[in-house]
Amino acid sequence: MRALVTGGAGFLGSWLCELLVQRGYEVTCLDNMSSGRRENVKHLKGKIKVVEGDVTDPPPLQKAGIIFHLASRASPVDFKEHALEILTANSIGTLRMLQLAEKWRARFVFASSSEVYGNPLQHPQREDYWGNVNPIGPRSCYDEGKRFGEALVMAYHRGKGVDVRIARIFNTYGPRMRRDDGRVVSNFVVQALEGKPLTVYGDGTQTRSFCYVEDLVEGLLRLGEADVSGEVFNFGNPAEISILELARLVKRLTGATSKIVFLPKLRDDPAKRRPDISKARELLKWGPKIPLEEGLRKTIDYFRANIAS
Ligand code: UDP
Repeated sequence: MRALVTGGAGFLGSWLCELLVQRGYEVTCLDNMSSGRRENVKHLKGKIKVVEGDVTDPPPLQKAGIIFHLASRASPVDFKEHALEILTANSIGTLRMLQLAEKWRARFVFASSSEVYGNPLQHPQREDYWGNVNPIGPRSCYDEGKRFGEALVMAYHRGKGVDVRIARIFNTYGPRMRRDDGRVVSNFVVQALEGKPLTVYGDGTQTRSFCYVEDLVEGLLRLGEADVSGEVFNFGNPAEISILELARLVKRLTGATSKIVFLPKLRDDPAKRRPDISKARELLKWGPKIPLEEGLRKTIDYFRANIAS
């Protein structure tokens, strides 16, 4: 079967393309290379078809049996400068991809986000929690973009019978994150390796739960292959850690002597985040396998080898 992966040259997308190839799929990767990079899929040359184009105005594409719609910038540092791009990729882009799914009678997997829960008042977050989102705040382009995308996906499911499923992806890290991505893991690792201070925003008591990328894409594939049309699932690692603890851990694993500095807290920065993944465990038999220390070591090795790039 052919799989179309939008955003296939991005961080998550490139790992998903690789896994799909390993599992015998033919793969088309559609990417406008705004935050994705050809380099991320260089090792798949000859094994996948890379098409440069935008999801909001897609070029002609070979028919696929399943669409994984991942295309969207996802880093909070992009929310200011690329808000419109994020909103259109998740609204018009999702619409265009759903239209293709309807035409091809393809299965559709939407990469949504834990950001739909906003600054959550329920902890940990289960799929039936509706969230606490500021619709006009600095993160709203992404949060509301993903929420609108989910609504569109469900409208296509209910109104047109398209076979859909939604993945709410929590913080994910690993090799091929961009060094200038602005995410906490890439920032801390690069800072530590360069002997620069580790920048903690706020007092560092805010928490996140970090999932290694290979675990994550295995979850996406299981979701695509399971008989769970119209369902939504959380994907992430429930092991929760404060940002200050993460800074200390990165320092220890890199052996860096960097200082930890405290910078102003970001506006609307969620205070806590941890997925409840019992639904994925039960229905998809999926759960993360790689502990944070092990995944961080792999990530550190990657940045060590690529720090000059
Ligand atoms: N953060 C930080 N220092 C950094 C980058 C991020 O303290 O250099 C914090 C950020 O304020 C947030 C957490 O780390 O509380 C995770 O941020 P990230 O941008 O990785 O992802 P988010 O979960 O906010 O989407």
